[in-house]
Amino acid sequence: MPIATVNPATGETLKTFDALGPEEIERRVATAHAAFRRYRTTAFDERARLLNRAAGLLDRDGPDIARTMTTEMGKPVAAARAEAAKCAKAMRWYATHAGELLADELPADADVKDSGASRVRVHYRPLGVVLAVMPWNFPLWQVVRFAAPGLMAGNVCLLKHASNVPQTALYLEDLFRRAGFPAGCFQTLLVGSDAVESVLRDPRVAAATLTGSEPAGRSVAAIAGDEVKKTVLELGGSDPYVVMPSADIERAARTAVTARVQNNGQSCIAAKRFIVHEKVYDAFAARFTAGMRELTVGDPLDESTDIGPLSTERGRADLEELVEDALRRGATALCGGRRPEKYERGWYYEPTVLTGITDAMRIHHEEAFGPVATLYRAAGPDEAVELANDTPFGLSSNVWTRDEDDVRRFVRDLEAGGIFFNGMTASHPALPFGGVKRSGYGRELSAHGIREFCDITTVWHAAEPTGD
Ligand code: NAP
Repeated sequence: MPIATVNPATGETLKTFDALGPEEIERRVATAHAAFRRYRTTAFDERARLLNRAAGLLDRDGPDIARTMTTEMGKPVAAARAEAAKCAKAMRWYATHAGELLADELPADADVKDSGASRVRVHYRPLGVVLAVMPWNFPLWQVVRFAAPGLMAGNVCLLKHASNVPQTALYLEDLFRRAGFPAGCFQTLLVGSDAVESVLRDPRVAAATLTGSEPAGRSVAAIAGDEVKKTVLELGGSDPYVVMPSADIERAARTAVTARVQNNGQSCIAAKRFIVHEKVYDAFAARFTAGMRELTVGDPLDESTDIGPLSTERGRADLEELVEDALRRGATALCGGRRPEKYERGWYYEPTVLTGITDAMRIHHEEAFGPVATLYRAAGPDEAVELANDTPFGLSSNVWTRDEDDVRRFVRDLEAGGIFFNGMTASHPALPFGGVKRSGYGRELSAHGIREFCDITTVWHAAEPTGD
């Protein structure tokens, strides 16, 4: 894939970049490694000061970097501004809390006495240079949610961002530099995915985190496994959105529209499969479809746009193939199912609701990365759970119910890293984020996220001999 800014609203190539060659990559890995040796010894207060500075700069840069993101990958510009603000908030959260989250632990005397210790402490120590392979869909947030805790833990970062967001990738390097982080603490490598293997195999690189598709995750995890290096994988999702009879159907349907089309439908945690109890199916389907029809598809730089274009021509073609396969095998489109007629240029797609889904259709098993929803009718909670879990993925899930028996049931049985009741999934710095099954492993955000790239070190001191 060329490293270039190609405006998805027009298809125009605006800027191209040469990939770094082996010598430049070597220079940056060496700089990162040298930077880690010094940076790991800095105090939390100093790291927090720098990260708070980065947050302040990001607040100031918000409107400009939002336009860059929109031009590179097509999200509505208001959502891009909100993403920048969310990143600044996460930076401040980790600047404030990292010290407590990584404070030494003192096991209780009673528990460790028979180990012969006079004192024992557990330390969280940084691992070193972490390679972050990141996707384009939240081009700031995906990076910041790793980099903010990573830098606070004392790690340093090499970013290999998606090839279609090079300007956002370079902005991030510049942001951390302007904030005052020492040279080498955060560097962007403008390289294609073919360069990932050699960087990851380099002995000076300690670990990797990848957010992206399952094939990319599998490849990076295999290389890291071969090198015995730690990885965190945040991969795809096909989140269920279950609606039970006790739910507020009006609110559930309204929220469902946002949950499906946020970020032009290209979010790993977007609700994608809508599983509705038969008692409320018709009411929900009518409201949900009406809501999807009302959305404005258009220029993402226009403040009134709800849905911009898909990020790449290939992305739209993949989505079209999924929908066409479903329609060919008997699904019905309640709305959409095609490109909007009004745009000759750009990679637009109409908000779409499909019913009559069977497991012979690809869309039943694969992630629809765009504004396409599938609707299922469930006879009761058993069938709802069965349908919800009938996917290779397990990222998040949403359940609408006011019945406490339902709550207990879904918490026990849903196979997902998150279960959100009566609302839509959203990430927050204080809440762990990640998935099970083919959605990956490990967690980002919260205490769990910052500890993923720490060595948990036991420090044990022998008790003095008693002399008898
Ligand atoms: P992608 O093609 O896997 O790309 C993600 C990153 O991986 C890019 O930097 C890409 O580089 C790189 N990459 C691709 N193939 C690789 C390989 N074989 N070895 C090493 N690196 C490789 O994913 P995408 O299409 O951009 O993003 C959409 C996917 O990400 C969806 O499945 C979505 O659900 C998932 N996602 C998950 C989360 C989560 O938190 N779980 C969040 C956001 C997105 P190039 O751009 O140079 O190819």
